[in-house]
Amino acid sequence: MSTPAIQNVVILGATGSVGASALDVISRNPERYSVFALTAHHQVERLARLCLRHSPRYAVIADEAAANHLRRLLRAAFSTTEVLCGAQGLCEVARAPAAGTVLAAIVGAAGLEPALAAVRAGKKVLLANKEALVVSGQLFMDAVESSGACLLPIDSEHNAIFQSLPAHYQRDPEAAGVRRILLTASGGPFRNTPLQALEAVTPEDACAHPVWNMGRKISVDSATMMNKGLEVIEARWLFGTPANRIEVVIHPQSVVHSMVDYVDGSVIAQLGNPDMRIPIAHALAWPERVHSGVSALDLFSIATLNFERPAFERFPCLALAYQAIEAGGTMPAALNAANEEAVAAFLDRRLGFCRISEVIAATLERAERDEASTLEAVLEADARAREVARGEIGKRGPS
Ligand code: NAD
Ligand code: MG
Repeated sequence: MSTPAIQNVVILGATGSVGASALDVISRNPERYSVFALTAHHQVERLARLCLRHSPRYAVIADEAAANHLRRLLRAAFSTTEVLCGAQGLCEVARAPAAGTVLAAIVGAAGLEPALAAVRAGKKVLLANKEALVVSGQLFMDAVESSGACLLPIDSEHNAIFQSLPAHYQRDPEAAGVRRILLTASGGPFRNTPLQALEAVTPEDACAHPVWNMGRKISVDSATMMNKGLEVIEARWLFGTPANRIEVVIHPQSVVHSMVDYVDGSVIAQLGNPDMRIPIAHALAWPERVHSGVSALDLFSIATLNFERPAFERFPCLALAYQAIEAGGTMPAALNAANEEAVAAFLDRRLGFCRISEVIAATLERAERDEASTLEAVLEADARAREVARGEIGKRGPS
């Protein structure tokens, strides 16, 4: 094998859970990857430590005050990393000519604009930020097509689907003989909790995921299964499969990361230990393979794989996501915005766990569907839905 050129990597959301996994994979393969830029929202000290360890050319933080704090910390340690700030700084590093690969791992709709900037600049984009596709799927995929960007999913299920589809798949399930996508879900921490007990769920309970160790927002999304709803929408855009051809399958061991069911009855799956370093390493090295630091799958100790049908009455958020993608236009953006507001309120103890789906349902009922044809239209739908959702949260409260 010839030595590949070094990839200069931007990590948007470097202080998060996906960011940490990505930096681990990069550190294991220094002959292939170099860190070009690292970004964080408010965690100045954490970002400073990462900069001293990985020596990026740029670091980006939320605002000027945080940037000055970061500059002081870096200067004191003789670092030459240049500090930028705000949404503009994020977009600047995402489209910098010297950056080849951009890993989009900011949580929520806040990650949309820098991810889109990377796509429009024709980068290799490793997408963890599923909310970007939920909010603006059509726009995002159109931008990929017109810029020639290479979009690779690192959400574990979508990475598994990507690996289970034919090489050079053209987002046309008919042409590839694909019958269905089988999207696996762990079922989260409340798969078997009695329904009445869900009323008393705390943020600590919801964030204690049985398999994956993730950021707080996605942990709550996993507990409500909104995460899977968002992933249905994500898969719809990534692979061109209508939602009625995407079936959610609960698989508590999280070893089969998703499957593709073909018209001849073949089902192709990707398996592995539940560790985000696998899809990240896959996408970084694709079409080659590198070491991720994850141990080999031990099927003898796993022994059993279970599959269950999800109960929509237990997980109303899943049904809401199917409704939003069915309605189309800006409705998925409204769904996502209402969910972000409701989850933030739940994590702040301002909203009860079972009220999350109620807030989203009430917001969708009051949302007006527009065409999601421009960034302005989706951002406006996002802002409108947040306002409605905040009112709905205020009406309900913490119990
Ligand atoms: P996290 O909360 O651990 O990290 C989020 C990162 O985004 C942090 O670096 C934070 O500083 C930054 N950030 C937050 N708000 C921001 C804002 N407004 N502007 C700029 N930066 C901001 O989240 P995570 O678990 O790493 O998830 C990141 C994304 O990846 C999410 O979209 C999530 O759905 C997706 N994802 C995560 C996992 C996982 O295992 N954690 C798996 C699949 C997909
Ligand atoms: Mg996932």
